[in-house]
Amino acid sequence: MDLRQMLPILGVLAMITLPPDRCAGPPVEQGATDQYTQARARMVREQIASRDVTDPRVLEAIGRVPRHLFVPQDEVRYAYEDRPLPIGYGQTISQPYIVALMTQLARPAPTDRALEVGTGSGYQAAVLAPLVRRLFTIELEEPLARQAEERLRTLGYANVTVRHGDGYAGWPEEAPFDVILVTAAPEEVPPALVAQLAPGGRMVIPVGPVMEAQDLLRVEKGRDGAIRTEEIIPVRFVPLRHRER
Ligand code: SAH
Repeated sequence: MDLRQMLPILGVLAMITLPPDRCAGPPVEQGATDQYTQARARMVREQIASRDVTDPRVLEAIGRVPRHLFVPQDEVRYAYEDRPLPIGYGQTISQPYIVALMTQLARPAPTDRALEVGTGSGYQAAVLAPLVRRLFTIELEEPLARQAEERLRTLGYANVTVRHGDGYAGWPEEAPFDVILVTAAPEEVPPALVAQLAPGGRMVIPVGPVMEAQDLLRVEKGRDGAIRTEEIIPVRFVPLRHRER
């Protein structure tokens, strides 16, 4: 048998022995062909690109994040399905399409500073992080904040800072932000978040009563400071909690 005949066999062996995408940081397991890579490619094609997410940077970013590493063990088999999943503490990881849509609506740029309110599993942070310079993300449930921080660190996301705290007040020490993504729904847009938006900044936020009649909004601050708000689509998010003053 000459070398040319052996090469395809070696190729098959290499595929079998490649570890599943457990180890490396972003860009995660580029080129590996395990079951999750295929499920993820299908997710991007059938649930996201087929709807109205067309920004190639967003499609590439979401196509690289191993969503199965952001869900609890007993949800792993559903990780690439078209729906939110429970992550404990009464919270959820958003539907992949909504994560992609919110990312696209925010028009992230490589020089941007970004804030996420509601870290949850860290999945939205992992999708947004490669598209901006720095990402600050804040989570009210301490165990979720700790788990997400650990997970993002293990996966190698070096430009993300996770903090445990109440994101209703934003993160004044790191403001202003070019991008703000809020992944839990308040009844009104929190004034502190509008204040922490940089001139030219974009905030994407679900707003409305608990689990009903919420709208996804994009709030933009003009270079002159003028605020413009657009309603995008009806959505369902867990509530953004905050202490009454
Ligand atoms: N972005 C997450 C989805 C999170 S679900 C992901 O990709 O997995 C919304 C999260 O917002 C929950 O984890 C909830 O605990 C958190 N949350 C609710 N109110 C909050 C607040 N005031 N400040 C920070 N986080 C809050």
